Amino acid sequence: MTKAAAVDARAHCVSIDVEDWFQVANFFHAIPRASWDQQISRVERNVDGILELLAARAVRATFFVLGWIAERHPQVIRRIAAAGHELGSHGVSHRFVQDLGPDGFRDEARRSKALIEQLGGARVRGFRASTFTITRATWWALDVLAEEGYEYDSSVFPVRHPRYGVPGFPPEPQRLALAGSRSIVEFPPLVYRRFGRCWPAAGGGYFRLFPLWFSRHAIAQAERHGRSAVLYLHPWEFDPGQPRVAVGRLTRLRHYANLARTAPRLDSLLARFRFAAMEDVLAARGLLAPR
Ligand SMILES: [Zn+2]
Repeated sequence: MTKAAAVDARAHCVSIDVEDWFQVANFFHAIPRASWDQQISRVERNVDGILELLAARAVRATFFVLGWIAERHPQVIRRIAAAGHELGSHGVSHRFVQDLGPDGFRDEARRSKALIEQLGGARVRGFRASTFTITRATWWALDVLAEEGYEYDSSVFPVRHPRYGVPGFPPEPQRLALAGSRSIVEFPPLVYRRFGRCWPAAGGGYFRLFPLWFSRHAIAQAERHGRSAVLYLHPWEFDPGQPRVAVGRLTRLRHYANLARTAPRLDSLLARFRFAAMEDVLAARGLLAPR
């Protein structure tokens, strides 16, 4: 596995938000939270598949784990750690930051960090909020993260979107000054600059619906500007056999289209570009101390 010292500052990153197929924000109405424990979990087999794919290319990735998953499937977290990957937090309940409020958000940031550190046996440094919901309206969340001992965040998406995004936010990794003398590093997901705007290009539906050359093009553009691309994917996106939920046509398209393509596409990008864990790239850029 690649060590921090050998990582190029311009390497790109694969991040995996570890949640199960029924915990997706688009399903919040179709699958009540109270029924989550009755759903058939597929997260373990899907994470195993991702670990195999990464191992075959000797790539160290970053896994932002939902506390809800860590509580119920501790073996999954242990396996990710044993494979040498970086573990970060994705909160506990997958609620949006604005719905949790400052106290609820702090509680989840604290509990998930402690649990994932205990299971993984290593300090958790990074955080990603459910559905990138750290926006101008919830900027206080960055103060909370710094106070709770997080060193970087990857929840600020520099795009215009109805549910998330901070349009105009610089797309490169940077240290943000916070209240008091605190600070935190922000490492935004990949965007593609075109027509004077930033477009999402990092993962999710875009990764599966757009042709592969678009992902390659967006990563190459980031590379030309000295940026590191942060891709984000979910275990359920590697799983064409997951149960189908009765949702609207648009959600169905975004969620189920081209699921069989995720693994070969990611593999082709891993073969073409250099990748490393987020903490290692940030350390190589002098934004974080090496682990
Ligand atoms: Zn998520």
